[in-house]
Amino acid sequence: MAVFIPTLSLASSSMQTTVRAGPLQHASLPYEADLRSSIRLGLNTSSTSPHDSLVAGRWVKLICGASFEDVADVRNLSLVYTLAGVDCIDCAAESSVVRAVKEGIDAAVGLAVTLQPGSIALQRPWIMVSINDDEDVHFRKAVFDSSLCPTSCPRPCECICPASAIMLSSSSNMTLTGGVLNDRCYGCGRCITVCPLGLIGARSYTRNYMDVADLLESGNVDAIEIHTNARDLEAFKNLWRNLCSSIEVLKLVAVSLPDLGDDMQKKMGFMYDVMKPDLKALNLWQLDGRPMSGDIGAGATKAVVRLATKVLAYTDRPPGFLQLAGGTNFHTVRAMETSGLFEQDAEKKEMKYSKIAGIAYGGYARKILSEILSTINQNTSSSKLEDFPLLLVKAVREANLLVSLLKER
Ligand code: SF4
Ligand code: SF4
Repeated sequence: MAVFIPTLSLASSSMQTTVRAGPLQHASLPYEADLRSSIRLGLNTSSTSPHDSLVAGRWVKLICGASFEDVADVRNLSLVYTLAGVDCIDCAAESSVVRAVKEGIDAAVGLAVTLQPGSIALQRPWIMVSINDDEDVHFRKAVFDSSLCPTSCPRPCECICPASAIMLSSSSNMTLTGGVLNDRCYGCGRCITVCPLGLIGARSYTRNYMDVADLLESGNVDAIEIHTNARDLEAFKNLWRNLCSSIEVLKLVAVSLPDLGDDMQKKMGFMYDVMKPDLKALNLWQLDGRPMSGDIGAGATKAVVRLATKVLAYTDRPPGFLQLAGGTNFHTVRAMETSGLFEQDAEKKEMKYSKIAGIAYGGYARKILSEILSTINQNTSSSKLEDFPLLLVKAVREANLLVSLLKER
């Protein structure tokens, strides 16, 4: 069989090398053994079901982003993090994005079977989609008119964007052309604050029950996440009322909420009471410490650990697993250990329930793969990471380092 093997360079990396692209079944690839051992790492970390991971406090979720819709990246992220052993992949409630997640998972499972015949099957992570009941930072896109940008601007917006979602070039009439790549912008807002001319705004949108009805019917979605800031509890109630008839098939319903201040316990109780009569799935509270900031640095994780500590102290906390998000990164597990968040839940000791069910990684999980994914994106022969086995090995190892922090502690 003829084997197609184009080459590309992995720029500015510790793995300075020429990478060959070609089908994995090409038996002479020198890094096939490396790939096997990386996948073995993933098999070790994903040997429990998502449900068991929740119970054991070892649940790890990849957040692709409620607004991130670059299907090539979403597919490759799903491939890598499935091989690395995550329990759930959270993505935009859009059919092409869900399809991309599923393709990535299918490719990972196929790879594991090919390279590890006869070993433990790779767990398929649950697919989760996100919706919102009100204006929310996770559901917005940056917008600006680049024809108003002077060519002399050093373009801090382009430099600061963690998603490489701004592309500009000079035009002949002393202004810039280009702008925001809508599919890649996930609404972090960093570009808005750095523009010296204040040209960048945000377009917010709502993804509600109508946007997910077909997705839920398709059977490709296992879980749903409702983002709320609980400013308008009637909006939450309305969303739930319209949603509840279509969620019977789901395995998990998550509610994602930031620190709601002094009323937090009361508001969580209200939301739980609204959901309770129709709740047939597991429920989870995603505590969103400092939204979309995990890639910024060690300090970003403090807010979510503070929020988890606060919620754990509630004496009348509504039922449901607790999971951290927003500012989560390589430092989160250590910070949780220091704050005693891993101690077993005394009330449920006999059931081996953990106080905290798990962690969701978003910006940081994407950042550690960004160089690899951008190398793939610059290549014209294939957009599939598995066609570049050496990059795939590197990506799975990076991802596994992050996932195993919680899985193997
Ligand atoms: S900086 Fe954030 S808000 Fe601005 S374009 Fe990039 S992803 Fe979108
Ligand atoms: S920082 Fe503002 S003025 Fe400068 S290129 Fe970006 S949008 Fe235009």
